[in-house]
Formats: sequence, structure tokens, C-alpha cells
Amino acid sequence: MSGNPSCIFCKIATGEAPAHLVYEDARTIVFMDIFPVTDGHALVVTKDHFENVYEIDEDALAAIARTSHRVASAIRAELEPDGLMVFQLNGQAAGQTVFHYHMHLMPRTQGEELRLHTRVPGTPARLAATAQRLRSALERLGRSG
Ligand code: AMP
Ligand code: ZN
Repeated sequence: MSGNPSCIFCKIATGEAPAHLVYEDARTIVFMDIFPVTDGHALVVTKDHFENVYEIDEDALAAIARTSHRVASAIRAELEPDGLMVFQLNGQAAGQTVFHYHMHLMPRTQGEELRLHTRVPGTPARLAATAQRLRSALERLGRSG
């Protein structure tokens, strides 16, 4: 597996740094965004280090799509949001802040302001509880990897 020793998402993928894990398979890992814009905001991350959409290979991208699809179903089943944004950012000009490829899964409520980031950290207990709910939903749906 290719890693970058100074990359926080590589450290989470290898277990060197903590995260509220939702899902893991051979190529991808999903954890709660530590600065959640909305409740249930999760990140689908490649285990290998690719900086952006230009660097990622097609197999890893397919794995990201498969995992995003699974976890999106769990978010819908468990959190029942009005909508779900699935997006990723490439380059500083696009708002990318962590330069390791990842897909955002962001539940949305009708009428709420559209934002991509916040500086307010989630409370660890809330992040842990939401991660647990999503893990249980994946198991119920038979999609836990
Ligand atoms: P982007 O701006 O698309 O690069 O998104 C990076 C996301 O990673 C932001 O929403 C951050 O809140 C989130 N983030 C940064 N560090 C961590 C971390 N250690 N654990 C979980 N999420 C993180
Ligand atoms: Zn990385």
C-alpha cells in the first residue's frame, strides 16, 4: 500500500491516527468528518495515497464509488436526511484542504444553507454515536464489507 508519512488520512488508514470508523474494506475506509458540516457527514477515503482525481487510478476510483454507494444507503436508512450530497474537491482553488483523495457524504436538510466546511469540531460522543448507528445500519443492510 502506498502511503505518505505526513498525511493525516494515510495515518488514519493505517490506524496510526484515531478516527470514528464506519466501514473498511481492502481499498477504502470510511470515518466521520471531525468537523462535520451536518450530522452524519462522513468521508470515503482510499487506503492508498492519491492526492486528487487526476492521480487516483480507475480501480481505486471504482472502489470509492462502491463504498460511497453502500454507505449512502446506510445514511439514508438510519438518518433519513432530506437529501445527501456526494462530492469531492480537487486543489486549493476548489476548496480541498486534505490532499489525499476522499469523497464527502453530507446529509442535507431542506432549506439549510449550503456549506462545504466548518471550523466547529464535532463532539466526540456524538461522532462516535453516529458512527455506531451507521455501522449497525450497514450490518442490517448486509453491506458491512
Ligand atoms: P476537503 O476540504 O475536501 O479536502 O475535506 C477535508 C475534510 O477532512 C474536511 O471536511 C475536514 O473537516 C476533514 N478532516 C480533516 N482532518 C480530519 C481528521 N483527522 N479526521 C476526520 N476528518 C478530518
Ligand atoms: Zn495520504
